Amino acid sequence: MADVEIPKQHKAIIYDEPGKASVKITEVDTPEPGPGEVLVKLTHSGVCHSDLSVMKNSWIQTILPHPTQAGQIGGHEGVGTIVKLGIGAEASGCKLGDRVGIKWIMSACLTCGAENICDNLKISGYYSPGTFQQYALSPANYVTPIPEGLDSATAAPFLCAGVTVYSALKRSNAKAGQFVVIVGAGGGLGHLAVQIASRGMGLRVIGLDTTLKKDFVLSLGAEQFFDFTAHSQSELISQIHTATRSTSRRGGSAAEGAHAVLVVSSALAAYESAALMLRKGGTVVAVGVPEGESVGVKNLGAGIVAGKCLSFVGSAVGNRAEASEVLDMAARGVVTTKFEVEGMDKLESVFERMEKGELLGRVVLDLQA
Ligand SMILES: [Zn+2]
Ligand SMILES: [Zn+2]
Repeated sequence: MADVEIPKQHKAIIYDEPGKASVKITEVDTPEPGPGEVLVKLTHSGVCHSDLSVMKNSWIQTILPHPTQAGQIGGHEGVGTIVKLGIGAEASGCKLGDRVGIKWIMSACLTCGAENICDNLKISGYYSPGTFQQYALSPANYVTPIPEGLDSATAAPFLCAGVTVYSALKRSNAKAGQFVVIVGAGGGLGHLAVQIASRGMGLRVIGLDTTLKKDFVLSLGAEQFFDFTAHSQSELISQIHTATRSTSRRGGSAAEGAHAVLVVSSALAAYESAALMLRKGGTVVAVGVPEGESVGVKNLGAGIVAGKCLSFVGSAVGNRAEASEVLDMAARGVVTTKFEVEGMDKLESVFERMEKGELLGRVVLDLQA
């Protein structure tokens, strides 16, 4: 690849007043890659609900230890091309011109065995400059290769939303042919979860969201859809039990309830219904994080968990292997992203729409426009 001209400065979007939904476009110095690092010219970055939470300091003391610093460059679903290698970076197999992704986990120690809960992980867009900018550094051993034939804008949402729900579905232990309820099925995470679960993993999906998203969710592979705002909790639970009733085996009684419930919504009410939707031995997977103070969840106490042999597991993003697996599903056309492309100047309004729950699928920023 011919040398690319790298500008001294480039455009970046910063959180100018963390705590509020406020961003500013500015020029920052383009950094030099250090030993083992690569410089990536980013073309696209997805916008994730976590970016909103980081910007607004909604997760302090639940997920993140410190308030976000003013001037933070957010973003963690970046795709671009390697334009410069630091000393030794090629040892990781990176070459100039490789198309790669930068994820929420920007780096991990890679020796403790659990990338997503590593004590030494760095987060892209939180105390490390993120992907809402035209050039970003990454450790060479932590970039995610983007499969050939998968365009960059389509790939971006898989780097956080896609890997997160794929990893969470694996942790649900649900097997092909079993029922999974996805709460928040029409959102950025949910719309990928529905496809990965149904088309990628052979699960029978029941989507929950608002009626506005019904046709969309059904078009993605969900077998059934319920509006979780239009019914009382008991109505919803009974609809799900009916929908998941298995034919009885000879001599046995019919089982009902989902094998797993994947909560990608950040509404506390979603967790309050989750255990009630399960059959015995089922699993609730927590992905969406309710904002504010961490509180206990009604209907998910020790009694029901023990009595029905339920599991309540958490799942946060995923590892590098899972990122590659889910990108491979995308490259094979098993799953696609519903997204709209916006310019960098639209980020603040994108966050506003996200807060109101108005986004259908994902927004991807075009960083070079
Ligand atoms: Zn570690
Ligand atoms: Zn994210």
